[in-house]
Amino acid sequence: MKVVTTRAELARARAEVGSLGLVPTMGYLHEGHLSLVRAARGANDAVAVSIFVNPTQFGEGEDFERYPRDPERDLALLAAEGVDLVWTPTVDDVYPPGSATRVSVSGITDVLEGASRPGHFTGVATVVAILLNATRADRAYFGQKDAQQVLVVRRMVEDLAIPTRIVTVPTFREADGLAMSSRNVYLDETQRAGATALVEALRAACREWTAGVRDGDALRAAMTEVLARQPQARPDYVSVADPDSLAELDTVDPTRGALCSLAVRFGTTRLIDNLLLEPEPAPCGNSAGR
Ligand code: AMP
Repeated sequence: MKVVTTRAELARARAEVGSLGLVPTMGYLHEGHLSLVRAARGANDAVAVSIFVNPTQFGEGEDFERYPRDPERDLALLAAEGVDLVWTPTVDDVYPPGSATRVSVSGITDVLEGASRPGHFTGVATVVAILLNATRADRAYFGQKDAQQVLVVRRMVEDLAIPTRIVTVPTFREADGLAMSSRNVYLDETQRAGATALVEALRAACREWTAGVRDGDALRAAMTEVLARQPQARPDYVSVADPDSLAELDTVDPTRGALCSLAVRFGTTRLIDNLLLEPEPAPCGNSAGR
């Protein structure tokens, strides 16, 4: 496994391999990250992982400084997965002195995480554009855990004609359903126990959906009720939105389905999770004409 830091070192290492799958991360790796690595391995000649805690996607007063870091453990995990190349750039490698370009995606970034974290997705879109261009990755792997991020990255790649294929990997969960996240380490014991409320809320909405509920408010209420049973949980948003535009829905179109998502604070820790309400297939033989 080759570990490189500068853009020049990266370019040299990149030139030595054929098709490349990139897994962008902020480190402090867990099984969720490794599931992206495993998805990348089957589909590419080589797999690269970037580890970079990107300052531009953190807002004032967010956890950039205290974001958990353990580079040695990360490298050991990646070596054990048979990763070929790891890029661990410094801030100056990603944003060289004088760098002045930002990539801003409009529309879908106004809501949900974008509304709660102004500027977050400009930081994300900018760093992902740099990572994809610098690695010339054929495919890049992102977790469904960050559903809005996937939409923003797909939009950006299409709009900027970046030739990398974006692949989404399902959310990897703990045995009790909690979505794996580097930030779970912030939770104390009671908060950790209560944090399953996120997935329980999403599953409650999914049960309603399966039972035939199509009203957006009723689906949001199903989630809010579950969260309300958890005294430590302070919901930031609870959403039932169109899976592409992220517009909040009054009624879910059964042929389109919906993205249920939520952000919930436990003390100073903010957790997110989501679940897709899968669209129903159109009934057979239901065409208007003959
Ligand atoms: P992060 O290091 O948190 O920026 O995450 C790096 C990548 O791993 C992103 O594409 C995340 O969506 C993805 N990821 C994080 N947690 C999970 C998870 N539990 N399951 C699947 N993918 C994940």
